[in-house]
Amino acid sequence: MRRRGGGWGRPGGGPPSPRRSPPCPTRGGGGAGRLGEAPAWQAPNPKALPTGGEIVRRYLEPLAAVPAVAAGLRLSATVTAVTRRGLDKMTDRGRGDTPFEIRWTAADGVQHRTLTRAVIDASGTWATPNPMGADGLPVPGEAENRDRIAYGIPDVYGRERADYAGRRVLVVGSGHSAINVALDLIRLQGEAPGTEVLWAIRRAGIDRLLGGGLNDQLPERGALGLAAKAAIENGSLEMLAPFAAERIERTADGLSIAGRQGDRERTLVVDRVVVATGLRPDLSILRELRVALDPAVEAPPALAPLIDPNLHSCGSVPAHGAAELAQPEPGFYIVGSKSYGRAPTFLMATGYEQVRSVVAMLAGDVKAAREVHLVLPETGVCSTASIVGPEAGCCGGPAPAKADACCAADAVAKTAGAAGCGCGTPAPAVVDEKVPATACC
Ligand SMILES: Cc1cc2nc3c(=O)[nH]c(=O)nc-3n(C[C@H](O)[C@H](O)[C@H](O)COP(=O)(O)OP(=O)(O)OC[C@H]3O[C@@H](n4cnc5c(N)ncnc54)[C@H](O)[C@@H]3O)c2cc1C
Repeated sequence: MRRRGGGWGRPGGGPPSPRRSPPCPTRGGGGAGRLGEAPAWQAPNPKALPTGGEIVRRYLEPLAAVPAVAAGLRLSATVTAVTRRGLDKMTDRGRGDTPFEIRWTAADGVQHRTLTRAVIDASGTWATPNPMGADGLPVPGEAENRDRIAYGIPDVYGRERADYAGRRVLVVGSGHSAINVALDLIRLQGEAPGTEVLWAIRRAGIDRLLGGGLNDQLPERGALGLAAKAAIENGSLEMLAPFAAERIERTADGLSIAGRQGDRERTLVVDRVVVATGLRPDLSILRELRVALDPAVEAPPALAPLIDPNLHSCGSVPAHGAAELAQPEPGFYIVGSKSYGRAPTFLMATGYEQVRSVVAMLAGDVKAAREVHLVLPETGVCSTASIVGPEAGCCGGPAPAKADACCAADAVAKTAGAAGCGCGTPAPAVVDEKVPATACC
């Protein structure tokens, strides 16, 4: 199911990707390759670097048109809640044998209930962006001035150009979304010279922001960091680091943004603000299910230590699948970018392997579910050691508290039934129940 106007398009759809994606969207895409044998669908070139829009047009829409897929799709439908039929969250009795009940609203507004044996929540995080406040809350005045504030990646150089050309724009955030917006504003500045770009991040240094540059194994992504660095050095934008906004007020001259730059107060006056401070999962539809999530990352507990940005900044994550994504509620899984909770490092290749493993588990093929194949490129500067000490460089950071494991990857391997990953040697690409992994970091 997906929302009206779903997909990657803006607004209301999934994340846009104005620049090129890594060459992985068609590889390992579960059964898509086999469905490709159907006459209506042709697999795209697996080495291409598509934009988000191209992924929709060349991959998702043709795949959705394959009759075997189309028959199961309910488009423009919104899931509003999931529960066990007749059982609230508190009730233990018969829970595992009771079907799930999915409540959803169709495009025409009619509400439906559907009973299912399993639920895979792949609803992403795009619709619930983080607010502007460094404390995770909206700053006073943020909601009231919503008409001048955009979240995510507005199309400042294209569709929404008129709102930004010749204006003073504050970009808030330190990820690739913020870099994309800042670079597009600088392009706009070249054509509309009055455009001023201020870029606020809450950290003091910008090294992490600029990522791995030439060392980034996703070269298009590394190039973004390098371009941003050049823009800062040549004065095309003003970098405010660290800056934390505290209050927004509308004045005759624009939006007055009071905050702290380092240890002194500073007030900025701008016309518009772009908030690109990350995304968080919407957990409201899962309220009546028993869901286990890490309290900080909001990812499944076995996965969280592998992706926690407090522990390491690498894009690389050990292979994981149904075992690590399992929830206390049998038959329920969270996959895709929502499975990463608030961590910003999810890549589509991870999702393909998660879904393949989860579907194999639901189909009763435990062996296939455990054979998780995934080698992700490293993205950004892998600064683990500088964050929590040298031991954290080991395969996804330290093991979770109380786990009998040498590191996070070792804990995952043991949870999945393997003997462990074995520390001190290169990580395995395959975890197989018959061949317990013996080496990891
Ligand atoms: C700016 C940006 C750029 C990115 N670039 C890349 C990249 O280049 N390469 C890469 O591998 N990854 C990239 N990512 C990560 C990217 O988000 C994922 O790889 C991918 O989009 C995740 O897919 P998903 O299916 O989990 O979630 P999404 O793509 O967000 O899809 C979730 C879908 O669920 C729908 N939905 C949500 N709630 C409901 C509901 N209640 N009922 C029904 N439907 C619902 C949404 O409308 C949406 O269609 C990027 C992320 C961002 C934010």
